[in-house]
Amino acid sequence: LIRFDRVTKRFGDNTVLDDLDFSVSSGKHVTLIGPSGSGKTTILRLLMTLIKPDQGKIQVDGDCLTHEYRGGKMVEASEKHTREVRKKIGMVFQQFNLFPNMRVLRNITEAPVHVLGLSKDEAEERARELLDLVGLGDKCDAYPTQLSGGQQQRVAIARALAMRPQVMLLDEVTSALDPELVAGVLDVLRDIAHTTDITMLCVTHEMNFARDISDEVLMFDSGRVIEAGPPEKIFTEPEHERTREFLSAVL
Ligand code: ATP
Repeated sequence: LIRFDRVTKRFGDNTVLDDLDFSVSSGKHVTLIGPSGSGKTTILRLLMTLIKPDQGKIQVDGDCLTHEYRGGKMVEASEKHTREVRKKIGMVFQQFNLFPNMRVLRNITEAPVHVLGLSKDEAEERARELLDLVGLGDKCDAYPTQLSGGQQQRVAIARALAMRPQVMLLDEVTSALDPELVAGVLDVLRDIAHTTDITMLCVTHEMNFARDISDEVLMFDSGRVIEAGPPEKIFTEPEHERTREFLSAVL
């Protein structure tokens, strides 16, 4: 469903991703781990088209995010093309980024109504179902500031799901939360991972969570995947010295 094909991304002389190849199959849950600065968030930002690669191609569900055919030639993707491909992707950020002036229900219905063209009633019905799913069925009329950080993050998860994305990107979604609120958010994500067929690509420092939900774990170092495998393998018998060092520092 997602394919990075020889992707390089530089910031000045800093090569953050170096000729990177990797792919995520439909319905799979893949977790990116690795030291700070190894390029994990950059991958998610490329997929959200917040930044562009210097080289290489990125595909989502068979469509190229970075290029398109025009006049029989492969050229850089237009804004319109990129917007269409990006509809397949939902993202939940570290900071919840809810609209502070809108009640919870409207935070969730806004994009389905304006981007997907759903009627207000359809969008509200979907939003209520999703709020039940994240355990906040009684908070439709609250404003974000009236909720705890954990509750706001669960609204942000419902908001991403309301767009029915094929893939969900999760960028350290619990790192801005007070420790006692982390478990509730991870439980909701575990539930989504185990009960839906949505594809997930997560960056997390929560190794137990990674172990529970991942089909595959990719260990990054200096902009490359240095080791990949099922969580049982990576967490219990990593092959690479850098993976062992990293895990002994975080576990
Ligand atoms: P962390 O776990 O700390 O979030 P990460 O693996 O997600 O780390 P990235 O956020 O992808 O790492 O950053 C990789 C490198 O790219 C870092 O060295 C960072 O300083 C650099 N970088 C990221 N964004 C920019 C930017 N907009 N301009 C310049 N450098 C950047």
